[in-house]
Amino acid sequence: MDEQDRRRAQERAQVIQRQLAEQDVRAVAVTYVDNVGITRVKGVPLATLDSAAAWGVGISPVFDSFLFNDIAITGKFAPGAVGDLRLHPDLDRITVLAAQPGWAWAPGERYDQRGERHPFDQRALTGKAVAALAEAGYTARAAIEIEWVLGQQADGDEFVPAVHGPAYGMARLVERSDYLREVLTALAAQNVEVVQIHPEYAPGQLELSVAAEDPVGAADTYVLVRETIRAVSQRNGLRVSFSPKVLPEGVGNGGHVHLSIAKDGQNLFAGGPGRFGMTETAESFTAGILGRLPALLVVGAPSTASYLRLIPQHWAGAYAAWGLENRETALRLVTGPVGSQQSAANIEIKCFDQTANPYLAMAGLLFAGLAGIGEQAGLAEPIDVDPATLGTKELLRHGIRPLPASLGEAVAAFEADQTLFEAFGEPLATTLVDLRKAEIEHFATATAEEVTAALRWVH
Ligand code: GLU
Ligand code: MG
Repeated sequence: MDEQDRRRAQERAQVIQRQLAEQDVRAVAVTYVDNVGITRVKGVPLATLDSAAAWGVGISPVFDSFLFNDIAITGKFAPGAVGDLRLHPDLDRITVLAAQPGWAWAPGERYDQRGERHPFDQRALTGKAVAALAEAGYTARAAIEIEWVLGQQADGDEFVPAVHGPAYGMARLVERSDYLREVLTALAAQNVEVVQIHPEYAPGQLELSVAAEDPVGAADTYVLVRETIRAVSQRNGLRVSFSPKVLPEGVGNGGHVHLSIAKDGQNLFAGGPGRFGMTETAESFTAGILGRLPALLVVGAPSTASYLRLIPQHWAGAYAAWGLENRETALRLVTGPVGSQQSAANIEIKCFDQTANPYLAMAGLLFAGLAGIGEQAGLAEPIDVDPATLGTKELLRHGIRPLPASLGEAVAAFEADQTLFEAFGEPLATTLVDLRKAEIEHFATATAEEVTAALRWVH
């Protein structure tokens, strides 16, 4: 960021200041997501937005070393309490918050004091992955599905469901129709294109999906939608959990990523000579992701609770396999109905959850897919049954492996993956490993009940 960039940002922010003042905005929440998937924030009074746009606001680098419980780890590259970074609002995405009167929001970008992008900046990493993809001639579109559990306000960590009735049942929608309308109204006012909203399976569980956009935009939208759901819930005296496993038993909250790539405006997941209309490139892109899924879980299913969710027959996609509309394989190919494939076809990564930093998850998937294209990787046979119903021999014959059953197994796979390690850069990759190992140690003797309680209301 040079002098000219700063001046331009300042002038632009001054125009925005006047527009936001007319909408009674008093302050802008500038967020970034840390390495354990927690959205952190600095608030900027509207009057100083122009200065924040030009110079950023100070933010300690130590947050990249925080565990879920706000304790910082130490490690070879783990940032400590010394030093300062500058958090800049991305003015292109500034949004007036409908459920937080007087507030606007902008995703933040972190620079060092010389004006260089901070090497740990997760959002910049997604941008880097998008640029690498563009360099190879491709564009990507993505969306993240949000599942959440609504609880009554209660003292302590207890979960008391605030939605009742059968899974996917109209009874749930009727019970919470005012609340769900408020969520939709707020998101519409914030220009978020919602595609679906519905009751889910687990006690108190709901789900919302949004339209696909560019990967950085999709990760930004995900942050905005979650915070909007949180705000509307709190205004209704309710509490929200995005944790992968709110209770030790039953179905968890996923954070499924939908992803497709295109060349010259043509969706490569449709109209090709490969399986179910995929092009060869889409197959290789998918194979690149499939082969690296165990390692990718370090960013996609990065908490101890993730592995309480990631079990067979819970629609979490616990097997490293893919299939057409298969909800028990980690990768579910979605083609859309006949006639809509060009816009609809995509691959859904089901094994990811919402303890993930969406920018890291998105970057990991894009780098893995791109590596698959570079390797011209062949895609395994699709699976059209629930892998859990196959015997060990059959699984072996199809080359299907269960995904890591613990965070430790995922870390081992990530450490062995040269491509991802290089793409993330040694300082960030090493720190991710150190953080995961510290969490494993923290929960070494914890029961499932203790893990779910500790992470229930954090994200
Ligand atoms: N709740 C399930 C999960 O943990 C997903 C259900 C669905 O397929 O939408 O991922
Ligand atoms: Mg769902």
